Amino acid sequence: MNKNKAKIVATLGPASSSFTTMVEMVKAGVNVFRINFSHSDHANAREIVEKVQRLNQELESNVAVLADLQGPKLRIGEVKEGAVLKPGDTLAFTNEEKMGSTEEVYMTYEQFPKDVKVGDRILIDDGKILLKATQTDGLHRVEAEVIQGGPLQSRKGVNLPNTKISLPCLTPKDLADLEVAIEERMEWVGLSFVRHPADVRQLRDILNERQAPCHIISKIEKPEAVVELDEIIELSDAIMVARGDLGVEVPMQGVPLIQKRIVQKCHTAARPVVIATQMMESMIEAMSPTRAEVNDVANSVLDGADAVMLSGETSVGKYPVEVVESMTKIIGHIEESGAVETEGENPPRFRNRRFVTDSISYNASKIADQISATAILAMTFSGYSAIKVSSHRPRARIFAFTSNRSILNTLSLVWGVRGFYYDRSDSTDTTFADVKQMVIERGLVNEGDMIIKIASMPIHEKGMTNMLKITTIDDYE
Ligand code: PGA
Ligand code: MN
Repeated sequence: MNKNKAKIVATLGPASSSFTTMVEMVKAGVNVFRINFSHSDHANAREIVEKVQRLNQELESNVAVLADLQGPKLRIGEVKEGAVLKPGDTLAFTNEEKMGSTEEVYMTYEQFPKDVKVGDRILIDDGKILLKATQTDGLHRVEAEVIQGGPLQSRKGVNLPNTKISLPCLTPKDLADLEVAIEERMEWVGLSFVRHPADVRQLRDILNERQAPCHIISKIEKPEAVVELDEIIELSDAIMVARGDLGVEVPMQGVPLIQKRIVQKCHTAARPVVIATQMMESMIEAMSPTRAEVNDVANSVLDGADAVMLSGETSVGKYPVEVVESMTKIIGHIEESGAVETEGENPPRFRNRRFVTDSISYNASKIADQISATAILAMTFSGYSAIKVSSHRPRARIFAFTSNRSILNTLSLVWGVRGFYYDRSDSTDTTFADVKQMVIERGLVNEGDMIIKIASMPIHEKGMTNMLKITTIDDYE
């Protein structure tokens, strides 16, 4: 296992779903495997979970699974081979399911003629084709003028950046897929095309009702979500900058600044943030990334992302292991340089329910920097204190100890955190001695190093983190 603090999320697909490839990928640096429910059926998803459990046992790793729900993704239907749209053409969208052509194409979204307004923009195939709505009958059919043409291919995605879509965030398909994620106890659930805080609340309510151990990653890929960013971040457990759809839904040149803004807001709110899509795109085909891609990964790490994500590169690409190795190398080099953005002062300001934990976490991070501690050891029940410490971006590594395997895996997404299974809770003294021994035995600290331990006392009550201890590793007791 490498020492990198920024984590890697890798999407599984035909190129990477064999057990041996997954093992290789984890050895190369993957922390979280992503199941893309746009392409995965339930049997495949369950098999992946079984493989991840097996490899976690064999490698003593804590790899998490991210169930990425498709959300209200709009698509066109089948289209005859060779259809090419030219500027000035008129294309009709119909909700009658039929073979498409350059004149007429099926649109999966039934309400489209009702929601669309004349003048709205319609984008197909990641924005490669652009049309403007010229007419709608309000029921079955929309006509649009082609502004930017190109080949019209079967089942390509459609984005409607100016149209208020009346589809729910969780479609019937998403609810069925979510069921599998809950049953299989997947650690993270990706909520696609979040528009409003209520979308996140709806998923949270389902998860609470089912007492599911799943955590929510809200994917920011709609302009509406960018407007309500603060509340969406607050309600989510983590955020993904989903640049693929985002760059179609807002002008693409807006994405870099939105990315930086989201990362910063996530730091302040202590929510892990994932940068996704096209990070190493050229490696779907090539053995090495472009210089621009190396820069993109490096800059995301420099901005302070918790994780960088691979999509097609690992799901259908030719080099699923090599692309992870390349990413690991880039992250390692950038972090070793010491240039990664550390969060400005962000002390807890409110005396809320978790003020004591927040205060200890903040100060553990500050003291660690001040005394050049090697590691912060956090005894955690929910993972909360480890995530809080991480949000302050200390230079020290963060080791989290918990008896909850699900939380252990969940923390694999979080910057700088490495989890260890520990299930004794006799006394604070015994626990501190045990965990110190564990990091010594694993060669994670050396004689003379200073470490900081944080925990709740009394330890068996599993209450809020309320104590901090500084220790020097003076001998190998
Ligand atoms: P997707 O999400 O791959 O599920 O579309 C990521 C993105 O849109 O960037
Ligand atoms: Mn998307």
